[in-house]
Amino acid sequence: MLECALRRAIDSHELVLHYQPKVDLENGAIVGAEAFLRWRHPERGIILPGQFVPIAEVCGSIIPIGRWVLREACRQARAWQDAGIGVRMAINVSPPELRDRDFVHWVRMILNETGLDPPDLEIELREAVLMHDSQFALDVLNALKDVGVQLALDDFGTGYSSLSHLKRFPIDILKIDQTFVSELHTDPGTNSFVNAVIGMGKNLGMQVVAEGVESREQLTCLQELACPQGQGFYLSEPLTAAEFTRLCRRKQVQRASSVV
Ligand code: C2E
Ligand code: MG
Ligand code: MG
Repeated sequence: MLECALRRAIDSHELVLHYQPKVDLENGAIVGAEAFLRWRHPERGIILPGQFVPIAEVCGSIIPIGRWVLREACRQARAWQDAGIGVRMAINVSPPELRDRDFVHWVRMILNETGLDPPDLEIELREAVLMHDSQFALDVLNALKDVGVQLALDDFGTGYSSLSHLKRFPIDILKIDQTFVSELHTDPGTNSFVNAVIGMGKNLGMQVVAEGVESREQLTCLQELACPQGQGFYLSEPLTAAEFTRLCRRKQVQRASSVV
């Protein structure tokens, strides 16, 4: 039933993106947005990606859905930039999307169509993508780097984390998984681990982002460890485009009044 309903979801405008701010932990500025897919089902209400993305991956509808996400996120990022809200946009991409032979072509085409500068698009991949057929993955990632987009490794530190991935693949951004962030305040071993990951990312010339920051204490720990960027419910929940715009405008006003 979900599979059939998913096929209609794009045409019936039931899919929507919510945007979580990515924050510079040194000065509190919003530097980016990560787009999260939501399905506004006519009977079931809002359905989160965990409940339908795995089905879409198996039945193939993740390909048209992924193209919709790419286009909508790029369009929104460009619209924000045109309105004076300069943010980079991150989207999540599943393994079957990356394996689609037209993926790089679509990325290039949609960037052209929407006028978004390639470095302002970040493509988030899970490490499983790199495991499956690593030569193929390497070729796709190199082709994406030729287009000029940024590549992020999502949920770093879980699953099949391998340091050789960081050396071999052209990764620009390391996203520390929320399971580590959630233990920061309570487990000293986790602090050492996160500290090491931040140092390693910086030494490799990568941007480092902590995911799932849920409390003041976790934020303080991350700031003490000089983690450059973070996102999470404590900083802001994922927001509708209109809410995101309002939040950025409020911050702009606060900044302007603090200068005066
Ligand atoms: P992810 O990319 O690692 O995203 C982080 C998830 O954690 C999101 O859940 C986000 O809403 C949630 N989150 C954010 N801050 C916090 C926090 O402080 N605490 C906790 N506990 N959670 C937080 P969501 O939106 O349900 O997405 C789950 C996963 O689904 C994502 O993990 C991503 O892998 C996938 N996904 C989301 N949108 C898309 C999409 O457009 N396409 C594809 N292929 N996958 C997507
Ligand atoms: Mg992500
Ligand atoms: Mg993640």
